[in-house]
Amino acid sequence: MLIEPVEVEQPKVVLAVGAHPDDIDFGAGGTVAKWISEGAEVHYVLATTGQSGGYDESIPRFEIPGIRQFEQRAAGDVYGVSSIEFLDFMDGSVVVTSELRKGISRAIRRVKPDTVISQSPVRNFDRIGASHPDHLATGEAALQAVYPDARNPFAFPELLEEGYAAHSVSQVFLMASAEVNFYVDITSTIDKKVAAIREHKSQLKDPDSVETMVRNWAATYANRFAGAEGLLVEAFRYVNTR
Ligand SMILES: [Zn+2]
Repeated sequence: MLIEPVEVEQPKVVLAVGAHPDDIDFGAGGTVAKWISEGAEVHYVLATTGQSGGYDESIPRFEIPGIRQFEQRAAGDVYGVSSIEFLDFMDGSVVVTSELRKGISRAIRRVKPDTVISQSPVRNFDRIGASHPDHLATGEAALQAVYPDARNPFAFPELLEEGYAAHSVSQVFLMASAEVNFYVDITSTIDKKVAAIREHKSQLKDPDSVETMVRNWAATYANRFAGAEGLLVEAFRYVNTR
């Protein structure tokens, strides 16, 4: 279904909110790289350290959080991400709690983004892997933090006491949505996306397949949403949160 992309603000300060290390890089790495190349500052906040990830049984499980944080920081360095925060909820058990909302609200009030990238809180039945329950919960908590928690000075009054003033986010871009209304041309930044994903070594059984896989996704979305051959895109559900 070809779409007519909605008008959006040029992002200047971006907070990307994901459930696991690698989620933002898989879902929006080309967009992150593009917006940074256009002058934006991008920060990440991740609900977990990906404690339940990986495939190699020879790695002691207690080492996984440290490995995955290291990999995420290396991936962020590929684009020049400004900061990465891990909230340390448990991978596989993320639910929408006031603690998660507060953690994301604190990050919003600290970074003061005009733009948030997060995960769709609505299950996409055509993309079951992208609709991991942790993703749905993180996306829902992120939207609840954007509206109303972060902008309401009377929500989580302890945040004010910590010195974090209320802040309103103008726009949200949701990954893996079944209701795409915006896409970003990532033709010029796909190489950075591939390089960033390849930093998540503990997650990749076959790292050499990443480039083909990522290029195929981006070309498929370009065909589906932009009707363009030779273009590579990432697609989002844009939400006006002004
Ligand atoms: Zn994930």
